[in-house]
Amino acid sequence: MTRNYNFSAGPSALPEDVLKLAQKELLNWHGLGLSIMEMSHRSPEFVGVAAEAEQDLRDLMQIPDNYKVLFMQGGASSQFSMIPMNLLRGKTTADYINTGDWSKKAIKEAARYCEVNVVADMADNNFTRAPSQEELKLNPEAAYVHYTPNETIRGVEFDYIPDTGDVPLVADMSSNILSRPIDVSRFGMIYAGAQKNIGPAGLTVVIIREDLLGNILPSTPALFDYKVTAGADSMLNTPPTFGWYLAGLVFKWLKAQGGVEAIAEANQRKAEKLYGAIDSNAFYSNPVALNARSWMNVPFVLANADLDKQFLAEAEKSGLLNLPGHRSVGGMRASIYNAVSEAGVDALIDFMQDFSQRHG
Ligand code: PMP
Repeated sequence: MTRNYNFSAGPSALPEDVLKLAQKELLNWHGLGLSIMEMSHRSPEFVGVAAEAEQDLRDLMQIPDNYKVLFMQGGASSQFSMIPMNLLRGKTTADYINTGDWSKKAIKEAARYCEVNVVADMADNNFTRAPSQEELKLNPEAAYVHYTPNETIRGVEFDYIPDTGDVPLVADMSSNILSRPIDVSRFGMIYAGAQKNIGPAGLTVVIIREDLLGNILPSTPALFDYKVTAGADSMLNTPPTFGWYLAGLVFKWLKAQGGVEAIAEANQRKAEKLYGAIDSNAFYSNPVALNARSWMNVPFVLANADLDKQFLAEAEKSGLLNLPGHRSVGGMRASIYNAVSEAGVDALIDFMQDFSQRHG
């Protein structure tokens, strides 16, 4: 059986080796005669799997000891509410940077709990760049500063970590976690839905500095309280055990690739090739400022939008799947997460060149 190249924005491609290992272990996990899915989350075996996944993530991201790692449910979107619930800590206002659709959703949700101060709004330039540090009108009294380092839909990625002084920085890394090395100590909190660079949908990873825990809005449900979740090792209730296990396999795969440094080199090469193919061919274009082009999500449009349907249909026939842009923006988008091989990017570039020659 041949597997196609999958450019889906999420849920997205998983490493083939991981899927094969999961398949091999599916019916009989480590000789116990049952599946990992059929096991109590409180069994020593699953607790071991869970702890090993956490340790591997800590190793990969070099997470300092004063940070908790939580394995939660509800997707990144539920974090949009949990963040103000947990991080306002008696304050009434929070700073948000708006670089696109996911920032906007985070802002809308936070506004239910506090006064949201939009410290830079890239709507003004149709979300084609990230603000510079100098453009951020930060409020020193803010409870935290929230931003989206990589906007999945329009492919806008920060090339720096904002300096927010003593105000904790909160990052929605759903679509670029583990794609390149980052200094975790610069952040108060990092969170990510799993379904891009971590594993299957249904799991959300939260990395949070310990001193930020424990001062919640009074109405916060126990399950949404990071301190309570941390105190229960993310097992206050039944966690998404299969997703957690699979994330653990992805972390081991990433270590075997040489870790985040090595995957970053591959990611940069993949992205540069693809943007090169777009920029050098008048048939295609990408509107994002050069220093804000995402390594993970590469949107592009055809000079002649009448050919969009044909492009997508022929791509699919060539084994290049899930290239339509987000329904809100149209055009195309190739998501080239960690598990999308360089061969996949090469195949896409070959197809794009061939298509443009035939239709240009
Ligand atoms: N933030 C970003 C940057 C995303 O890309 C997504 C999903 N594409 C979300 C948040 C929402 O994630 P979820 O569906 O897990 O709630």
